[in-house]
Amino acid sequence: MKCDVVRDLLPSYADRLTSGESNREIDKHLKTCENCRQYYQEMTGEGPEILPKADVKDAALLAGMRKKRKRALLAAVIVILILAAGGLWTFIGYSVGSSKVLAEDVKLSYGRKEDTAYLEMEPRGGAFEFSSFTEKIQDSSGNIIGTRTRLKAQRFRKGWFVKGSMGWKNEIEGGDYICEWVLEFSDKTLTIRNGKLISEKDTTSLPQD
Ligand SMILES: [Zn+2]
Repeated sequence: MKCDVVRDLLPSYADRLTSGESNREIDKHLKTCENCRQYYQEMTGEGPEILPKADVKDAALLAGMRKKRKRALLAAVIVILILAAGGLWTFIGYSVGSSKVLAEDVKLSYGRKEDTAYLEMEPRGGAFEFSSFTEKIQDSSGNIIGTRTRLKAQRFRKGWFVKGSMGWKNEIEGGDYICEWVLEFSDKTLTIRNGKLISEKDTTSLPQD
């Protein structure tokens, strides 16, 4: 069948007025002829290849949502990577840290400014962790005559990313009140009273707990 014959028959074919023989011929032709198939689809406004407009819009909307979802996923992945890097960083900081903190790892400054005793500790090339415990100093009659703060060094972390100095101040009320800092390092225990170093004990021979 030729294209123009098919096209003459297509209106009747669409209205199902053509004979069975013609239908078979037209079907056969439409299967193989792209142009007539398109012509038929445009004429009837239907056909499997033509998507209804609503569907096209939905498809575009769906694609947009997929893009947004992809972007949200990417953002989440980036956040997770940043957190993981931070965790790793901290972990490296801890794992390269030493459980020994020597007195020489920390630069100490202490003294008195009028009625205030001060102590500053600056770790050399890193940071350290310590536990702190404060107790009252009492005389034989039970009067509180001062405070003693024990600072036990726990761990030293080297690295440029771990830094920090710390300081304490305490009023000593004209010198009658005792302010004592006991600094326990892995090798030495230093006692600073009212801004003065009063004892320095070597503890390297003592068992470490
Ligand atoms: Zn044709």
